[in-house]
Amino acid sequence: MKVAFFNPEDWEKEYIQNHSGKGDLDIHFFDHELDANNMPGATDFEAIVVFVGSMVDKQVIDKFPNLKLISTRSTGYDHIDLEACKERDIVVSNVPDYGANTVAEFTFGLILSLVRKIHTGYDQVRETGSFSVEGLRGVDLRGKTLGVVGTGHIGRNVIRIAQGFGMEVIAYDKFPNASLASDNNFEYKKLNEVFKESDIITLHVPYNKDTHHMINSEVLDEIISDNAFLVNTSRGGVVDTEALVHALKNKKLAGAALDVLEEEGVIKDELEFFIEGHPHEVDLKTVLANHILIDMPNVIVTPHNAFNTKEALVRILDTTLDNLNKFTENKPVNIVS
Ligand code: NAD
Repeated sequence: MKVAFFNPEDWEKEYIQNHSGKGDLDIHFFDHELDANNMPGATDFEAIVVFVGSMVDKQVIDKFPNLKLISTRSTGYDHIDLEACKERDIVVSNVPDYGANTVAEFTFGLILSLVRKIHTGYDQVRETGSFSVEGLRGVDLRGKTLGVVGTGHIGRNVIRIAQGFGMEVIAYDKFPNASLASDNNFEYKKLNEVFKESDIITLHVPYNKDTHHMINSEVLDEIISDNAFLVNTSRGGVVDTEALVHALKNKKLAGAALDVLEEEGVIKDELEFFIEGHPHEVDLKTVLANHILIDMPNVIVTPHNAFNTKEALVRILDTTLDNLNKFTENKPVNIVS
């Protein structure tokens, strides 16, 4: 099977070459993400391998006439047009569980930074050398209520860690898992109850029509406590960025830690965006709101980095190779469509 593998690091190319199996895979590497403006010279590939920075929309899919499989090296697959794939009988596979502990550990890194102002203290010492603790007082985690939205692979690891900190956990999931709750000593509640009763809300749902702007102005202004913190490591679109800016500005929320942003791709390649300019494709107000968020003292923004550990990346490559190999054996695995 002729495979186009987009945007690998050098060590990943070597790993793939050494672990790709019996030779049914003819893998070609491209040192860029895939989108309508960044296509490879040849398009006769039967499979493509992408990560979250690629935008595999209908326009891109239509350019690969032989395409049978899209394998994303991520859990989320909202960067792939599943409808367009369905029309062409293209299978989409993902990596369902490479980083449940990895993302959960990062989530707690964000929570601790946020409530203990670690990022602010770090900046202060580096920038001014001052050891004054004025303005750096935080709050304990012990005894606080953590609201976990989405109790899948990542959410349940977050719950496990939260209990080590002595936090109370409440959760919401569209498909609650009663045995998970009783085994892990937490309670499922209605979504608005979780929003209302939590000191810290952490989001671990996939991005789709259902979860689009789950955190919006109504929820921020009327339901979530003014003293609560919000953590988002899921996808930017789960939070309405403009509503978040207003809520933080109007002290309707104590702070936010965001590993993901709406239109984060534009921030990554701002110079390219400025030169090429695709204003119809992105919401420029959201891009501006992102910059306002980045400059706010009670906001931590990280560059979609929660997955990024050595161990997780090896697990991603192993699962991706398995996805490709099993597909060639007519036994596809990890199918999302
Ligand atoms: P998962 O599929 O194991 O869990 C998702 C959970 O959300 C499931 O329990 C599901 O029932 C629930 N859910 C689905 N729709 C819902 C809705 N409308 N309302 C409430 N709950 C709903 O996924 P996971 O491995 O836990 O990952 C969660 C998300 O985290 C991924 O979809 C991805 O977008 C994101 N992620 C981010 C990073 C990062 O680096 N920041 C890394 C990995 C995953």
